[in-house]
Amino acid sequence: MPELPEVETVARDLAAQANGRTITGVEWLDWPRMIETPDEAGFRAGIAGRKILAVARRAKWVLATLEGGLTLAVHLRMSGSLVVYPADHPIDPYTHLVLALDDGRRIFFRDVRKFGRVRLLDAAGLAALDAHHGVEPLSDGFTPAVFARILAGKSTRIKPLLLDQALIAGLGNIYVDEALWHAKIHPERPAAAVQAKEAKALHGAIQEVLTKSITLGGSSFRDYRNGYGQQGGNQVSFAVYQRGGEPCQRCGGLIERMVVAQRGTHVCPKCQPR
Ligand SMILES: [Zn+2]
Repeated sequence: MPELPEVETVARDLAAQANGRTITGVEWLDWPRMIETPDEAGFRAGIAGRKILAVARRAKWVLATLEGGLTLAVHLRMSGSLVVYPADHPIDPYTHLVLALDDGRRIFFRDVRKFGRVRLLDAAGLAALDAHHGVEPLSDGFTPAVFARILAGKSTRIKPLLLDQALIAGLGNIYVDEALWHAKIHPERPAAAVQAKEAKALHGAIQEVLTKSITLGGSSFRDYRNGYGQQGGNQVSFAVYQRGGEPCQRCGGLIERMVVAQRGTHVCPKCQPR
């Protein structure tokens, strides 16, 4: 599932290719249920003729700012991708939305699992989406002190806490497992039991694993593609994620796979004691 670095990569790729272009209309839509708001007719009418002013990311949402105060918000969920293709690129059975641009190219939303979602938001809708999400972990607002306050007094285990989008935005299974390994913290440790020194290490690890992955264009598992339709490069550098049974690169012990909060979780029991 695309997380912060993957969505950031897609947003940057779309900005580079589509900023300043006008969406002439919906060329293909075979799964109207993906449009959460407004209704299909309102979406088609509302998006046609709108110039794309900017594309950015909030949490795991791609946000395209359109002329006239509207924002096209896309969540890739499990398997979605947003790619700009030339006019002659074929629409396959997994392509559920195609937006035509005024220069002949087209933005494809492709989604094998069909969990992806699209919204066309006014200012109030955008503010509501923003309010549902916590601090951006790569923003200036995410300081060690802010992170310490998020952890303070919480009996929640640290992994589900880090996955809670209302507290910290954009983290998912991959980068939480990686950051916890770097900081040597067991994923089931209660948040309040994480010591100040460990919290500082975890704060740094979160920023480091995210930044490194963005530099490499995100991590490709299954369906993730960047805004040019290419795979990311970060998946080769995981320390623990999907490495169950392999030796830990720090201590040589075997990495274990366990389930925490219904999520497959990868941990080095030696480096990350309970
Ligand atoms: Zn280890």
